[in-house]
Amino acid sequence: MNPVKIIQSIPAQVTLIAVSKTRSIEEIHEMAKLGISTFGENRVQELKQKYDPAYHWHMIGHLQRNKVKDVVPLADMIQSLDSLPLAEEIEKQCAKIDKVMDVLIEVNSSKEASKSGVAPEEALSFLAACMSFPHLRVRGLMTIGPNIDDQEQIKACFTSVYQLYQEAQARWPQIDTLSMGMSGDYEIAIACGANMIRLGTILFGERN
Ligand SMILES: *Cc1c(COP(=O)(O)O)cnc(C)c1O
Repeated sequence: MNPVKIIQSIPAQVTLIAVSKTRSIEEIHEMAKLGISTFGENRVQELKQKYDPAYHWHMIGHLQRNKVKDVVPLADMIQSLDSLPLAEEIEKQCAKIDKVMDVLIEVNSSKEASKSGVAPEEALSFLAACMSFPHLRVRGLMTIGPNIDDQEQIKACFTSVYQLYQEAQARWPQIDTLSMGMSGDYEIAIACGANMIRLGTILFGERN
């Protein structure tokens, strides 16, 4: 489908992140002409190469502590916060440059061993711990849906994360972002309460 039609079909309350991993700077500029201003990258090296201050950049991939100092000056949000040592490092590097970083707690809702993220039952206690860092602004939760075809199972997974999100919102009024949904499952995610989606393939085309 044509990316313009996809973009137009997204409800106004949902923020669209264009996932630009593996895409060229030229492709990013083309996408920006369609009205997209925020791009998601999952590797620090790629983010550094493509960074353009004209756009907003979200780190969406697993982040190693030794790369945090490179990400912090460039990213507007880190969506993949999944451990206390990582939170401590983001705090330290942000303090150095006097920046407050928006972060999402990544939840491993599909419980697939290959995926990063905190276990759902630990998500809220981890979120609470992250609230104490002065240079972190915890905005909500991020998850990657299960890599399966069964729509009902995907829905169950997203619904469970939405419930966690609502619990978090009830306790902390600053919680306002639920990032879930990719090319294959974003419509289900929006129906389940996502207000941020991360689309790569469906916008840019199949990866080479
Ligand atoms: C690659 C990626 C996406 C986008 O995936 P598509 O299926 O290409 O839309 C979204 N979120 C994360 C964390 C990713 O790594």
